[in-house]
Amino acid sequence: MYLSVVIPCMNEESSIPGLVARLTQAIGPWRDRAEIILVDDGSTDATWQAIEAARAVCPQVVGLKLSGNRGHQIALTAGLEAAQGDRIFMLDADLQDPPELLTDMMFMMDRGFDVVYGRRSERRGETLFKKVSAHLFYRFLNVMSDVPIPQDTGDFRLVNRRSLDAVLAMPERARFIRGMFAWAGFKQVGIEYIRSPREMGETKYPLRAMVRFAIDAMTAFSTKPLRLATRLSFVSLLMAALIGVYVVYSLIIYQTAPGWASVVLAISFFSGVQLLTLGILGEYIGRLYVEAKNRPLYFVSEEARDIAPVAQRLRA
Ligand code: UDP
Ligand code: MG
Repeated sequence: MYLSVVIPCMNEESSIPGLVARLTQAIGPWRDRAEIILVDDGSTDATWQAIEAARAVCPQVVGLKLSGNRGHQIALTAGLEAAQGDRIFMLDADLQDPPELLTDMMFMMDRGFDVVYGRRSERRGETLFKKVSAHLFYRFLNVMSDVPIPQDTGDFRLVNRRSLDAVLAMPERARFIRGMFAWAGFKQVGIEYIRSPREMGETKYPLRAMVRFAIDAMTAFSTKPLRLATRLSFVSLLMAALIGVYVVYSLIIYQTAPGWASVVLAISFFSGVQLLTLGILGEYIGRLYVEAKNRPLYFVSEEARDIAPVAQRLRA
């Protein structure tokens, strides 16, 4: 069994030395047949130098440098495509997910599971806002999504070759990897763990990125927002009927045309509804456009590996 570890890194120069040290401990029993793929996602700090330095102390480290910043999910995809293992372990560079959980995940996989994901029973050292928004996000996503996506999980997981191949066979650009594994099916199980605070550096997910990520996930796994327009139209028809009754009534009673307030109210309500539905349409159309262009997801500008690819090694 050959193990690949895949880690996306963007501006993680301070995390990498500690990460590699702890990871090589954690993969102890499998170390001789393992690769640790660090994907530099267009960092602007010395992440690539840190990866090269890590290669000097740990020959299992493979560096992959993308030609620019493509975002967490695409950096992860690049690493997954490069991975040659029979089992693939994914985690973040900041050690929020304990690599030691690999032992338990391996145990579950030996019992026949194809995907073993980490489920956060608790998050430490994150802002109340992040905790609450993440909690609501995973619940809302499940209400909207057509496939059940395990709640409170990230991309921290161990997967086997066949489930990875299933995900890599999905050609979409908008990649919500945890959802894609859920959609792929196979036998899945979660292991609970406590998510620790980030060890070094700061989060690469500011509010803007979180919102984009959430909308990507929603549009990739649900078309329910599109149907919202139809539902809203019923609501607005009902409102219009009520306002109509009121208008006729006030015409008869007051015989004038008072009530500009109700006019303003009606106009602003209906234009709000229209803008909302237009916006939702726009989100989907924009994504259709991006998918239709069918551009490559990323380019690798540099690759650093000592160890020969698995296929070669198996032949030797
Ligand atoms: N990351 C990346 N590209 C990006 C943003 C993030 O490769 O554009 C990596 C980052 O280096 C880290 C992982 O994705 O290894 C998760 O990011 P982070 O820990 O900042 O997210 P959080 O845990 O705060 O949600
Ligand atoms: Mg993190």
